[in-house]
Amino acid sequence: MNIASLLIRAAKVRPDRVAVFEGERPVWRYRELASHSARIAAGLVARHGLGPGDRVALVMRNCPAYLALLFACWRAGLVTVPVNAKLHAREIAHILDDSGASLVFVTADLSATVADALGFMQQRVPLVLPADEIEASELAGFDEAAQREVEAGDPAWLFYTSGTTGRSKGAVLSHRNLMAMTSGYLSEVDHVAPGDCILHPAPLSHGSGIYAIPHVAAMAAQVVPESGRFDPVELAALLRAHRGCAFFAAPTIVTRLMNAGVIGDAERRGLKTIIYGGGPMYVEDSRRALEVFGQRLVQIYGQGESPMTITVLPRSLHADPGDGQLDHRLGSVGYAQAIVSLRIAGEDGQSLPTGAVGEVLVRGDSVMSGYWNNPQATGAALRDGWLHTGDLGSLDEGGLLTLKDRSKDVIISGGVNIYPREVEEVLLRHPDVAEVAVLGRRHADWGEEVVAAVSVRNRATIDRTELDRLCDEHIARFKRPKHYLFFEALPKNSYGKILKTELRTLVADREATAGGDAGKSGHG
Ligand code: AMP
Repeated sequence: MNIASLLIRAAKVRPDRVAVFEGERPVWRYRELASHSARIAAGLVARHGLGPGDRVALVMRNCPAYLALLFACWRAGLVTVPVNAKLHAREIAHILDDSGASLVFVTADLSATVADALGFMQQRVPLVLPADEIEASELAGFDEAAQREVEAGDPAWLFYTSGTTGRSKGAVLSHRNLMAMTSGYLSEVDHVAPGDCILHPAPLSHGSGIYAIPHVAAMAAQVVPESGRFDPVELAALLRAHRGCAFFAAPTIVTRLMNAGVIGDAERRGLKTIIYGGGPMYVEDSRRALEVFGQRLVQIYGQGESPMTITVLPRSLHADPGDGQLDHRLGSVGYAQAIVSLRIAGEDGQSLPTGAVGEVLVRGDSVMSGYWNNPQATGAALRDGWLHTGDLGSLDEGGLLTLKDRSKDVIISGGVNIYPREVEEVLLRHPDVAEVAVLGRRHADWGEEVVAAVSVRNRATIDRTELDRLCDEHIARFKRPKHYLFFEALPKNSYGKILKTELRTLVADREATAGGDAGKSGHG
């Protein structure tokens, strides 16, 4: 079972249907996409000597070549490593080192970042190839390669997720995992007909790229915005230009699209489904989204370790039959997708009764086989056959899961996970920083924003620009705190562990009295 066979099938059944649009412009029909990816697959093997299981990293903005390269790698039995394009060069270096990628495809906009990343690497530096205009490159000049047979459990995609340890880990997703996700999508998340399309305003390195696969399975089209990113005006124009559009969006994208005031009847005619997830959506925002978009919303809950496939809140449960339960349903993340089993467990791993809050555990064909080269982290996440998600939640009588908190302390800003520890470690590099705790604070547009509580050594004075600079040197821009609050000491329990709950109250009080951000450290 090779996931690339879905493209071969589509090229046979619907050779002349457009497979990829860039904006409104058709780029490749199915037979062309299949042919390009088969030629590139041949080039990767013949020209670069890559063999089954070798890793190929993609540090690319969203563009049509992204899709051709994913399928080319799978066809050749290679493992793709899609990298979040917003990461810092040091973070990219870690992913290249950890995955042992032999080759990196880079779009022109990111070539300087990748050059910096190579300088930070500890291991053998991979070969870097330009990804723009891939169909005209030397690689695409080879004769089409036959599809490489792989085992269903062989890795296809290393999905790097930030970890509590501060370094990202590669969840190993196999061809079977991606096939299971595909069946789950087509049976429960959305129906897809050949004339439909999926828009990619969200990064192809994450959920949107995962969702490209069911749309190839259904022989529908992929639409990559010309800007390669989310732009509300551009997205509205694409909804007017195409029919049967679905797209994946983090809750913040849904709210930003609503706030832009660009959605009317013409856009709704093109819109089939918005699949939202990746972070919590507030009930009031969901209600407003139903007014703006109509009953075209589906929520999913997943994580890199079980991509897009833990629960689903289908469009039918976004309806209001007047039972007084709509807010409860919208506040939940839906029920377990049919392809997984889900249970709520206490600290001892025993299942808890309905209504009790515990850790969400999942198992099924979509769950990763482990983290790449990291048996310790794998052992912690996969125990007795169950994926321990690190999310806390409870199930109601009707099987709906409501997430209560995240035991991993993660901040989700703009649908992207930020692990406090990663930011804390960077701020602690400052010689005058004694202690630091990084928290998420609710934000109307971004879901949450990053706030750092800092205690300073010897009553020193720290200018926030020094802390900003440290962050810019080590981590991605989106992880940098928006506010710094300075304290003489941070509240701790008897073991010396910083009490984040108490700190949240202190931060709220400080903001109420001081009126917000403190630019320089001060005591009081
Ligand atoms: P990632 O691995 O980057 O996809 O992040 C996965 C994490 O995002 C999950 O473990 C949850 O904490 C959170 N998450 C994903 N989907 C939802 C959702 N629908 N509602 C609330 N949190 C979510």
